[in-house]
Formats: sequence, structure tokens, C-alpha cells
Amino acid sequence: MRVALDSANDRMVRRVVIIGGGTAGWMTAAALAHRLGPTGVTITLVESAEIGTVGVGEATLPQMRYFNSALGIDEAEMMRRTAATIKLGIEFRDWGSPGDRYIHPFGAHGERIGPADFHHYWVKQHKAGDAAAFGRYCYPIVAAWNDRFALPEDDPVSPLSAFSYAFQFDASLYGAFLADYAQKRGAERVEGKVVSVQSNGESGFIETVTLESDAEIAGDLFIDCSGFRGLLIEQELETGYKDWSAYLPCNRAYAVPCTTEDAVGPYTRATARSGGWQWRIPLQHRVGNGHVYCDRYISDQDAVDQLMTNLEGEPLADPKQLFFKTGKRRKLWNRNCIAIGLSGGFLEPLESTSIDLIQSGITNLLELWPQRDCAASDADEYNRLMDLEFTRIRDFLMLHYVATERDTPLWQDMREMEWPDSLAHKIEAFRLRGIVPEYESGLFQPPSWLSVFIGQNIIPEHCDPRVERLDDGARAAALGRIEADIAAHVDRTTGHLDFIASYGAAYGGAQTGGS
Ligand SMILES: Cc1cc2nc3c(=O)[nH]c(=O)nc-3n(C[C@H](O)[C@H](O)[C@H](O)COP(=O)(O)OP(=O)(O)OC[C@H]3O[C@@H](n4cnc5c(N)ncnc54)[C@H](O)[C@@H]3O)c2cc1C
Repeated sequence: MRVALDSANDRMVRRVVIIGGGTAGWMTAAALAHRLGPTGVTITLVESAEIGTVGVGEATLPQMRYFNSALGIDEAEMMRRTAATIKLGIEFRDWGSPGDRYIHPFGAHGERIGPADFHHYWVKQHKAGDAAAFGRYCYPIVAAWNDRFALPEDDPVSPLSAFSYAFQFDASLYGAFLADYAQKRGAERVEGKVVSVQSNGESGFIETVTLESDAEIAGDLFIDCSGFRGLLIEQELETGYKDWSAYLPCNRAYAVPCTTEDAVGPYTRATARSGGWQWRIPLQHRVGNGHVYCDRYISDQDAVDQLMTNLEGEPLADPKQLFFKTGKRRKLWNRNCIAIGLSGGFLEPLESTSIDLIQSGITNLLELWPQRDCAASDADEYNRLMDLEFTRIRDFLMLHYVATERDTPLWQDMREMEWPDSLAHKIEAFRLRGIVPEYESGLFQPPSWLSVFIGQNIIPEHCDPRVERLDDGARAAALGRIEADIAAHVDRTTGHLDFIASYGAAYGGAQTGGS
């Protein structure tokens, strides 16, 4: 790492200041303390209890497991401390058209049964009117619908080796867990409100922040984790915002926790509504719910009424309203400031991508760890990587809104609008030939796109011609075998709650909090 190589000169970053103690701030502090603490870099995190955190963000992606494991965090302990449940994917209800139901899983459908990709064989069988639902050929989906879970296996021929999992947890407890972790490794927490920021007149680099108490904190590198307000990246550095609300128009949400009445299924649910959609995230001790909507299509009153009418249990708090504008900062790294978390951008919570974007921001920063002068080439590369990540997620989120036959104005407008070329190309390639253009890296690889395409009723006009190499009988037999094999494996796993009881049940009993 460059830090070690530069330790003999004074060009290295010695003081990192993080503004904000939400999920972004504490994830950043934990990762930096783990990687840089031993090099003598000081890490100071400033947070204000009076301002508080956004208080939502419960569903995660499997990549988070790599973050935890890189930090040496014991997964079962993390689950206990955050009242976590397992997440095998997201169930989408009523998205393609009312009555539809599919899961976007953390795993692929089917297996290789010939030279073409599995979905081509399924499409051929589906068009012959003889295929089971696409989800029945995917282990994590069948496990999710049966409320079952077992840890993945190493044996590559087992369906249990071809999936991953994530968590549904109380994000504020995760923040507290990481705060302990980071402080034990030398990060310093300062309580107080930043009231002014002092920058160098020539370079524009931030030099100090001043707290309400008049205390000044100086740094070489500043990480802005101050949430939507973007205290450093926007209020001080005026970096600018790429507003994507034309593409992703939802701009408000109500969130409320309730008691658990239904099964604590190992999956998040997103149900389409007239002017947005509603989430259900089951934790060990409660269910998080929210209605994400666009105020151009539904009033606040109707939005909160829809949410409260559709709760499965008793509300545990008053509904909390949140406001946002989808998009991202023009640069996430500007001068000596890097925006991580909501200060860098927000693309709405449909695919639980925000915590993952925090993780990407941290990983890319560590890869490109700068010297004190923050070379423009480091910042440019960071901004390029993060821009790519945000844009791809934006397209994937849009797919859910545009591949629909729903008929209320939000959905009609999304279907009829001019889509970004990058998305239009992907949809056309699939609609015509069943091709899913692949990204070299990053989130949402072909299995994810496939599950939403087919889940929302985009069926390719033509299959890969190589499917013809398998005759009708052999194809039907192969599909039948895969379906039966998955069902048999699911039968042998334990119930989701039994798994949690033996692995990561929360101690201290039920805890309630914001959703
Ligand atoms: C409706 C909704 C649903 C969401 N659902 C999900 C989900 O399911 N999954 C997911 O991954 N993400 C989700 N997110 C996003 C997730 O909540 C955030 O990405 C995550 O919580 C990180 O927030 P943050 O730390 O950037 O900001 P915040 O939580 O807002 O923290 C900001 C911090 O900055 C501090 N601060 C601000 N100003 C000052 C100041 N002047 N002085 C000192 N301190 C200051 C605050 O006190 C706080 O500690 C959701 C977001 C919304 C809006």
C-alpha cells in the first residue's frame, strides 16, 4: 500500500476526519481503522446526536458479507447484535402487472445443460407451454418461498453452492456495532455539531472544521458522511448534483416499523402501488415497512394511508416522512474531500443498493489511497469508477419501472418516457434474442437482469439457435430434473427461524426502533 511506502516522507495523509456517524460514517471509520490504524494515521469521527441519522436502511446485498469478513467480523455475532435475519433476494409483487410475483434472488437460475445459457432452454420450453415458473429452477427462490435456509455448500455440483445471501438488520444497531469496532482500533469519536468549515484560499482544500463548542478539528483528508445535506462536498465545495429524478421520479417515503404477524421470510418484499411501491423487511423482532412514492402522482396523505392500511401488524411508532432527490454528486471526490453515503447520492431503496455503494466508496478509496496533495488522477479514477457504479444501478432500477403493464400515470409515464441509451440497448438485446450484455465488474450481473426481465414478462422473441441441439424430450427431462433436485435440496434444509436460533439469535430480547 502506498501509505507504507511513503512513511519516510511527509507527503502522506496523517489525519483523516470523518463528518457523520450514520452507517456511512461508521463503516468508513471501521474500514480505515482496520487498514490504516497500524500505520499511525489518526481517524477522527464527528457526529451530532442532536442532528441524528436518517434512521432507515435495513436491507443489504451479499457483498456486505465480504466487507464484514475483510474486517474479521464474526457473522453470527453481527447478526445477534443487529437482530438480523437472512435475505435470499427481493420478492416483487404486482410489478409487471397486478397479480405478478417473482423474486430477484442472490443466485442464478438453472444450470448448464447444453451449449446455450440455461434461460434459452427455459424460454423454448415456456413457449411450448410446458415450463414451470422460472423461479422454480432457482435454489434461493424456492428456499425463500418455503421459508428455509442453510448456509451455502462448497460442493460445486450441489445447488447449495450456487447462491449467496445477505442480511436484513437494524441499521442503527449495525452502526453502533461498527462504532465499537472502530473505537477499539483507535478511531476517535467526537460529539458535536460542525458549524463552519475553513478551506485554503488557494487550493480550496478543506483545512479545519469548527464545532459549536468552538473546538477546531484539522485534517489532511476529509470524508463527508453527513447525509443528504452534504455538509462538505456541497455546502462548502459546491460540487453540484446530477439530478436523475426524470429517470427515477420517486422523491419521498414514509417509514414505520410494525409487529411481526406473518412468516419472517428470508427475503425483502417490494409491492408496487399506484404512485410508488411499498417495502416489507422482516427482522428478528419487528418488520420494517415503508412507502416510497413520487409526490406528483400521489398526495402525502394518500401515501401514508396506503402504508398504514397495508401493515401486517401493529405499528410500533408514528410513520416518519423522508424527502430525497435521486441522483449523485457530479464528483464524489473533490479536492481533499470524498463523499460517502447519502452525501454522495441516493438512487432510492428498491434494490437495497445504498449500503453497497458505501462499501464501494470505501473500497475504491482504499485502493486509490492518496498522498496529502490528492493527485487529480486519483480523484478522476475514483469519480469514474463511482459514476459507472451509480449509472448501472440507475439503469437496473429503472428496468423495474419501465417493464410494466401497470396503468396508473406513474407507470404509464415511465413506460413511455425516453430511456437512457444504455438501458434501451439492454432491453432490446434481451427482447429480441435473449442476450444479456455483461458488465466487466460491479453490481447486477446477468442473473439479476434475467430475473427482472422474465419476472416482469419480457420474453425473448428468439432463443439461441444452439438450444435445438437438445431435442424436446431431453430438454423437458433436464428441466424436470433441475426442478426436482432443487425442491429435494430445499426439503433437507431447516426453517429460517430455526437457522437463526442456532446461529445468530439476538440477545437482549426484542428491541424496537426506527425503520
Ligand atoms: C427511504 C429510505 C430507505 C432506505 N432503505 C435502504 C435499504 O433498505 N438498504 C440500504 O442499503 N440503504 C437504504 N437506504 C439508505 C441508507 O439509509 C443510507 O445509505 C445509510 O443509512 C447511510 O446514511 P448516511 O450515513 O450517509 O447518512 P445519515 O444516516 O443521515 O448520517 C449522517 C450523519 O452526519 C451527522 N451530521 C450531519 N450534519 C452534521 C453536522 N453539522 N455536524 C456533525 N454531524 C453532522 C449526523 O448526525 C449523522 O451522524 C434508505 C434510505 C432512505 C431514504
